[in-house]
Amino acid sequence: MKPCAVSIDLDAIDCYYKIHGLGAAPRELEHVIFERALPRAAKLFASRGLRVTWFVVGRDADADAPLPDRDSRAANAAALRELAQRGDELGNHSYSHPYDLARLPTKKIEDEIGSCDRVLRAIASTPPRGFRAPGYDVSAQMFDALARRGYRYDSSIFPAPGYYAAKAVVMGALALLRRPSGAVLANPRQLIAPADPYRPAMTAPWRRGQAPLVELPIAVTPWTRIPAIGTNLILAPEGIRTRVLAAMAKRELFNLELHGIDFADADKDGIPGELVARQPDLRVPIAEKLARLEAILDDLAKTWQFVTLAEVAADVQRTR
Ligand SMILES: [Zn+2]
Repeated sequence: MKPCAVSIDLDAIDCYYKIHGLGAAPRELEHVIFERALPRAAKLFASRGLRVTWFVVGRDADADAPLPDRDSRAANAAALRELAQRGDELGNHSYSHPYDLARLPTKKIEDEIGSCDRVLRAIASTPPRGFRAPGYDVSAQMFDALARRGYRYDSSIFPAPGYYAAKAVVMGALALLRRPSGAVLANPRQLIAPADPYRPAMTAPWRRGQAPLVELPIAVTPWTRIPAIGTNLILAPEGIRTRVLAAMAKRELFNLELHGIDFADADKDGIPGELVARQPDLRVPIAEKLARLEAILDDLAKTWQFVTLAEVAADVQRTR
């Protein structure tokens, strides 16, 4: 059976406030993804004996930094430690999730990757092996910072032109409303990147080359390149979902990306209406979302073998 790796990006609610140009999120929601959504996700995966990869924004679990909410950050770190001890993988998702990370000065890129790396090493005994860039945008400088730290893989390339076009339209509309989005459009060269695992070029990671680390692109269907990511699959009508999953059979890897917010419940978790109005997934109650995700995982289990991204990367490194 071919490998399927499930990963969860633990983006805080504040990230979604930024994307939608809503300003800063209410302070009391800062840790709601860790405190409310992560336990639901962890319970579901544990009940199925499924090991997954959590992409952590370092700041949220940094118990050593002189930041407010130290107790919350220490509790978040403890929750991650428990997952790592269970066999899950912790991946680097930068320290503070700047959407424009790929365009920042080399020193800033180095800091963001290095600080998250420090946090993850303090939490788990296994050093981090993988990275996912905020907003799916990569650069040569990022790959440099990862290679020097001995990372095995990057998993940020999201070669989905349809998603890219939709994002461009929303960002343009927000700019017209003078409420600019904090999101950034990734380098369009990534849209024609390979969609199966490959060894990238260090200077142009969207092309094939000879980098020491490998690229594990996020799932898109063959030809049409429809994103097969968690939020889409959970929201899609059953007929479309079944077709997308079936189309993925031609891929070498099913790199199924979820987000912490997929496990949030607007009512139960006290998420404000201004965000719910802009995020259709928040209008589906958690019980329904979990049921749909269980159905997706049942379907996948028939033809795919669940592994972590680090395991896939080790395999790809050996054979390519
Ligand atoms: Zn993210």
